[in-house]
Amino acid sequence: MRLLRFARNDILVFLFLSIVMGAPSIARPSKKVVHLIPVGVVEEDLLKELAQALRDKLGVTVEVGEAVKIPKTAFDSRRNQYNSTQILQNLLTAGPSVKALSLAVTEVDLFVSNLNFAFGEARPPDNIAIISLCRLRQEFYGMPADRSILMERMVKEAVHEIGHVWGLGHCSNPRCVMFFSNSLADTDRKSDAFCKDCKGFLRDDVKE
Ligand SMILES: [Zn+2]
Ligand SMILES: [Zn+2]
Repeated sequence: MRLLRFARNDILVFLFLSIVMGAPSIARPSKKVVHLIPVGVVEEDLLKELAQALRDKLGVTVEVGEAVKIPKTAFDSRRNQYNSTQILQNLLTAGPSVKALSLAVTEVDLFVSNLNFAFGEARPPDNIAIISLCRLRQEFYGMPADRSILMERMVKEAVHEIGHVWGLGHCSNPRCVMFFSNSLADTDRKSDAFCKDCKGFLRDDVKE
């Protein structure tokens, strides 16, 4: 009888705490707050436009943080590129502790271990991702610069990496933003939105 009463009291205490503290989500950092971190020199207006586009498209709160230096250890002189995994690692260990989702933005050319280059990389468990603008620029391919094309591509790559941090994998729908971009043509073909299936996979705390 006494044991039963204790058990019931425990449940009542638990229910009370759950209601008061909003447990168990209380300790989880918000994934709807995106912290943009310029790595190296990135044009301020571009970041502001990206921030606004992400607010409009994803309903997230976006803050543009202070620029951080590109870690020298990330540079691979043989490839003349920067290791994006290394940059992310540096941000996690040396950078400011940011509880929000961090999206690093850089102008340098990135690569990941077994690929020639990378438009970006995400580390979902660490709530962090990076995108490079280098290969999104027309001028990288010897064409005249085009700001609106750059913006479109930048938003797609940013939404793609945020999608990974939010738990999405790659999608087979070539119009979905979660389609894997093997080349710029893939990026240009896809939209900047999650398809219906991907939207369905998003957790409730990041849905609009
Ligand atoms: Zn991807
Ligand atoms: Zn999809």
